[in-house]
Amino acid sequence: MAGSGKFFVGGNWKCNGTKDSVSKLVTELNAATLEPDVDVVVAPPFIYIDQVKSSLTDRIEVSAQNVWIGKGGAYTGEISAEQLVDIGCQWVILGHSERRHIIGEDDEFIGKKAAYALSQNVKVIACIGELLEEREAGKTFDVCFKQMKAFADSITNWADVVVAYEPVWAIGTGKVATPEQAQEVHAAVRDWLKTNVSPDVASSIRIIYGGSVNAANCAELAKKEDIDGFLVGGASLKGPDFATIINSVTSKKVAA
Ligand code: PEP
Repeated sequence: MAGSGKFFVGGNWKCNGTKDSVSKLVTELNAATLEPDVDVVVAPPFIYIDQVKSSLTDRIEVSAQNVWIGKGGAYTGEISAEQLVDIGCQWVILGHSERRHIIGEDDEFIGKKAAYALSQNVKVIACIGELLEEREAGKTFDVCFKQMKAFADSITNWADVVVAYEPVWAIGTGKVATPEQAQEVHAAVRDWLKTNVSPDVASSIRIIYGGSVNAANCAELAKKEDIDGFLVGGASLKGPDFATIINSVTSKKVAA
C-alpha cells in the first residue's frame, strides 16, 4: 500500500547558525523556485525562530526542534507548546535520534510530548530509527515498531503527524540508506499503522526518510512508493541543495 499524502520535506538546522547565516539561508530559500505540491518546513534553533518567521516566505512553515512535555511554568530552559503557538511556529520535531541517544529522552517521554503538542495544535514530525548494531542484529523492525507503539499509545490525532524514519547509522554520516532499505522499513511501518492504528491513517500519513539525504541522492529515494518526502539535516543548511531536495517530488511523479 503506497501513501496518498502530499510530499513533505523538512529541514532540521539542528544547533547551527548565527543571525547572519540564518539571514543568508532565508534569502536563498525565498529566492528558490519550489514545486507547488510539496509541504515544506524548516526547523531553526529556538532563538532564531522569530527571525525566520518574520523574514521567510509564508510558502515555508516553521518547526521547533523540541518542546516541553506539558504546559509551561517552572521548567528552566524549556519552551512550551503554547509559546510555539504564540510566535506562529506550527510544527515540532520529536523523537530525533540525537535527543534519544545523546540527551536520553525515552519512548514514553517522547510520546507524551507528542500528545501535548498536538493538543495545542502544534503538528508533530515523529522520528523513529534503529542504531547500526540493532540493524546488524536483525532488530530494525522491532525497534521501529516499539518506537511507533510509544507514539501510538499517546497520539489520537494522526492527521497532524508526519513519521520520519531516520536510521541512526545514516544521520550525519554520509551513509545514506539505499532506496530499497528505506522502502522496506517505510512499507513495514505503514503496515504496522494499518494493523495497530487504522487503515485510513496508514494510507494518508506521510512517512518521510532522513539520513544523509542530499541533492544527488534524493531523486532515487523519492521514486519509492512509500517514501513520501524527506527530513534533511546537513543539506538543509544550503538553500539551493534544499530546494533540489524539495523539487525531487518531480521524480516521484515520473515514477508513479
Ligand atoms: C537529521 O538529523 O534529521 C538528518 C537527517 O541529518 P543529515 O541529513 O545530516 O543526515
